[in-house]
Amino acid sequence: MKALPLQKIAKSKLWKFFGGVNPKEMKDTAKCAIQNTKLPNLICLPIERHLGKDGELMVMVGDHVKRGQQLTLPHNKRLVPCHASTSGTITAISQEILPHPSGIKGLCITIKPDGLDEAIDAAPMVNWEHATKEELLDRMHNFGVEGLGGAQFQTDLKLRSCLEESKSGVCNVLIINGCECEPALTCDDRIMQERATEIALGIKIFKKILNPKYTFVAIEDNKPQAIKAMELACKDIATVRVLPTVYPSGSARNLIKILTGLEIPYNVHTSEYGIVVDNVGTVLASKEAIVDGVPLTSRVITMAGDALQEPANFNVRLGTSVRFLLTQCKLKPEMRQRIIMGGPMMGFTLPSIDVPVTKSTSCIFTPTTDAVPRIKEQTNCIRCGRCARVCPSRLVPYQMYNQSVAHNHAAAQKCGIKDCTLCGSCSFVCPSYIPLTHQFRYEKAVEKHILDAEKRNQRAKLRKEEKIARLEAEAKERAAKKEAALARMKAQKEAEAKMSPEELAAARQKALAEAKEKARLRKEALLKGKALEGTVNETSKVATADSNAPKAKTTEHVETEAEKVKRLKETERRAIEVTKHQGHLDNPMFKEKEEQVVVQKTEEQLNALPYALRAQAGVRDDYLVIKTTPLVEETNKVLELVGLEPDDKLQNPAPKKVIAQVLMSYQEQKKENTTLPQALKKKTLRARK
Ligand code: SF4
Ligand code: SF4
Repeated sequence: MKALPLQKIAKSKLWKFFGGVNPKEMKDTAKCAIQNTKLPNLICLPIERHLGKDGELMVMVGDHVKRGQQLTLPHNKRLVPCHASTSGTITAISQEILPHPSGIKGLCITIKPDGLDEAIDAAPMVNWEHATKEELLDRMHNFGVEGLGGAQFQTDLKLRSCLEESKSGVCNVLIINGCECEPALTCDDRIMQERATEIALGIKIFKKILNPKYTFVAIEDNKPQAIKAMELACKDIATVRVLPTVYPSGSARNLIKILTGLEIPYNVHTSEYGIVVDNVGTVLASKEAIVDGVPLTSRVITMAGDALQEPANFNVRLGTSVRFLLTQCKLKPEMRQRIIMGGPMMGFTLPSIDVPVTKSTSCIFTPTTDAVPRIKEQTNCIRCGRCARVCPSRLVPYQMYNQSVAHNHAAAQKCGIKDCTLCGSCSFVCPSYIPLTHQFRYEKAVEKHILDAEKRNQRAKLRKEEKIARLEAEAKERAAKKEAALARMKAQKEAEAKMSPEELAAARQKALAEAKEKARLRKEALLKGKALEGTVNETSKVATADSNAPKAKTTEHVETEAEKVKRLKETERRAIEVTKHQGHLDNPMFKEKEEQVVVQKTEEQLNALPYALRAQAGVRDDYLVIKTTPLVEETNKVLELVGLEPDDKLQNPAPKKVIAQVLMSYQEQKKENTTLPQALKKKTLRARK
């Protein structure tokens, strides 16, 4: 690993990264102050990545939630929980279109706002300066802080991995990314202009966690206001470095190259070099989570493009639909208007405008045909090499493109498709208008699909191997048992061969008597068990007791009259307790029938009937009852199972009978229908109707 040129870094030296382009700037919205949007009619929060084996839902349809309430419970440090972005009622948990170029659907929670926008109580960490690193990182995780620069990588995980994976064991450089190199984006610019002091507080928190040797705030020179505000706010906290405006200097690896001179390979994580790059928006969200105690439920996005009559920078609740935001900005659409999510270089055309804003959405760009002409007709590659000259990942895009178009995925991988950051520089300079970046996006998706399929195959293979091993183990166990049984029988035969006929007869008689006694006890236990579950265990214990145990004591014991009374009283008391627990005795319907104790619904019997037939039979939820009838003494009662108890004898005189009749007629109909020819079947059905 190449050592960091710390002295040069300290001397404010700036390096230059390979490639890059200078697209036309469209940052008119830099003058638009951040506004809060109105409450939308619906909020749709994608939760696909929060579920599965590693996470679960904490809410149901119909639940009322407040802003900041946790909706999902992750069981994994790689997932952060999802929070409600306003108060309201959950109306659906369903598959909705996600903000993805393919128009793919994913699981989302839909909230109907109640208009009050009530929030849960804020939980600020009052003495965060004295909190441990772990406490601060846990707070970030629990309050849903993720990278707002676009990658949506868990912030706490990034910081943790820097502390754990760094080869030097410390964080060398902390870079706060305020470059915002995409031509139309101004949200970070506005955040830095308006909330510089809060960002500085966020940087303090990051510094407390990482204790870095150098802390930089990197801003491109096309944001003079932001530079001024940040320099003022970050005195003694971080060094503000002003970088020349080149696209894509905001990419983490390019930024590291510019500030430290280090070129980190694309298969190595930046944390291994002890370098952390985080967006200004993420730093602000971390400050809000720790100092203000508010979960991440909104973000600032830029609404740009000539098709908007009122472009703006909005502070938007997560889950707000793009359609709602376009209406707020008074979109004046052209024929076949393109709505791009992200900037003009890295963004993608949305398949639908009914998609929600997520943590990774930084801009909605609506260009007119004059501003961004439609892609002209593609011609053949002329091997000019411009694409390779501007690629910051030092790839050869035209080669990669040819392999991808030929569906030669392995070769495309060899060309380095993994290292492509989809920055769009190659497409931008291509004189043949070849949609290189689109093809690379597709190729990455295919690659992911192939990898997923491979993983699935591996898992299936593993499962199969486990099953074979289990079956083999079971077969071995069975064989061992069989062998043992054969050995036992053999030993018994040998022992019997040595006995005299009298001894043999006596032994057989004894064994027979023992078996009979066992059977009798088992039967007795079963009968008692039917009367009440409580007595089963006791009797079963006796029945299954070891043959060497003092059997005589249990079998010879004769129950006295007093004991019998006591036992019956006890069983009755337990039955009543069970019934009270089920709440049936409190039902006025049963108060009149004091002798009846409802113990169990006859679900098995009802479930045996088709639902429609239950309704036809007029059967309500029937009950199995235990009726108590007086014994010779007043106090003693035996419990007897009497069957279904009708709700109302007039309306439903004998449910059991009705059920049987209906079931019989249903079976007859079914039989008839299967034996009749097709034409007759229809006729019979018509006649019945
Ligand atoms: S999109 Fe990929 S291949 Fe094209 S310039 Fe950017 S990194 Fe290079
Ligand atoms: S820039 Fe376009 S035409 Fe030139 S080599 Fe690359 S793909 Fe071919």
